[in-house]
Amino acid sequence: MKIFKFGGASVKDAESIRNVAKILNSYASDKVLVVISAMAKTTNLLETVTDSFINNKADLVSKMNEFSSFHFNICNELFSDPNHPIFNDIENLCLELECLTEKEVKDDYDFVYDQIVSFGELISTKIISTYLLSQGIKNKWVDARNFIFTNSNFREASVNWSETEHIISTKLKPFAEKSMVITQGFIGKDRNNATTTLGREGSDYSAAIFAWCLNAESVTIWKDVAGVMNADPKKFANAEKIDSLSFDQAIELAYYGASVIHPKTIQPLKSKGIPLHVKSFLNPSESGTVVKEGNEFNTDKICFIFKENQTLITLKTRDFSFVAENNLQEIFRILATHKVRVNVMQNSAISFKMVVDFNERKLSNIGKDLTHSFETKQTNNLRLVSIYNHVGKEIPSDITSGSKILLEQKTDRVLHLLIADN
Ligand code: ASP
Ligand code: MG
Repeated sequence: MKIFKFGGASVKDAESIRNVAKILNSYASDKVLVVISAMAKTTNLLETVTDSFINNKADLVSKMNEFSSFHFNICNELFSDPNHPIFNDIENLCLELECLTEKEVKDDYDFVYDQIVSFGELISTKIISTYLLSQGIKNKWVDARNFIFTNSNFREASVNWSETEHIISTKLKPFAEKSMVITQGFIGKDRNNATTTLGREGSDYSAAIFAWCLNAESVTIWKDVAGVMNADPKKFANAEKIDSLSFDQAIELAYYGASVIHPKTIQPLKSKGIPLHVKSFLNPSESGTVVKEGNEFNTDKICFIFKENQTLITLKTRDFSFVAENNLQEIFRILATHKVRVNVMQNSAISFKMVVDFNERKLSNIGKDLTHSFETKQTNNLRLVSIYNHVGKEIPSDITSGSKILLEQKTDRVLHLLIADN
């Protein structure tokens, strides 16, 4: 069985959905399970719906209308019959979402977020599955929440692998052997039947979970780029495609922030040796990138990962003690509590520096906790460039020219440069 994943950009409008149908039609004789994300930037929109709901903002109604009209407009283009049952289905889903936001807010932010944001995936898969049927592409719509079991760590839920594998192999597999399956990325459910999500951009990871549990022959992530590139083509005119990568290299690149593959995606595939293809949905016959087990797939291409909007936090102990085990333990406890991930860290005798993504809410929360034991300084609006496979290569000077390097860290795998632009 093959697992395909289509992200938001591949289903951003009616024309893109027709293109996906064309691709899937060419695999009609294969066994395929298709994982699909929310359309275009719908997840961002639903994040603002969550925010407006929780904070009682007046724009809640207009955000909800934006959500429903976006999907209705796409359906109007895909289905010529105004009485097609899809319109009723979409209306029901929108109503369900609306009802969620009628309640009084008494739950935790992260819980509410998952209940609301998951509608992006539910509605997109419903539309696409129905459209495929209308085009004669037989498929079954499956609710991923019945198969992906997680803990209750809302917005960043961890998968319960044994239960998930059991239910997928006993209940989903026989089903998927017979017909193409269309399901959602990103979402699952906890023990109390509440919807959970696996973290932003988590649909790649969902594809890997299904692949692992079904012992799939391969996973293909369909992107708007030719494959995994050695730099973001939008920022780097000379970006080149990488033909092959080993699993370990792909894990490292994702870990350092290459946004092409969600970081958690590779581990399950590596553990079962399931190859991952990254291909262009615009040129489906081109080979793309393959990620496979074995050093022979290693690339030695220099790779550039750019992260904007970074914050440098410098901590100094208040009692002149060294930044040693106890202090580090305290720092990491606070980071974990507020779900803040560190991109680069560096410590010296009396100070500790860390580079994190800017997030006002999270930074203010960790700031409050850290000031008990540390003097803290925060520098915003920085840029982090991580250069992979840098050893023995020339670093293009325009990456840093005219700017100030606030932190530099080099290992045999990667060179991190934290840059303040003037
Ligand atoms: N729709 C979710 C997001 O945008 C999941 C995904 O696209 O992978 O984060
Ligand atoms: Mg997405």
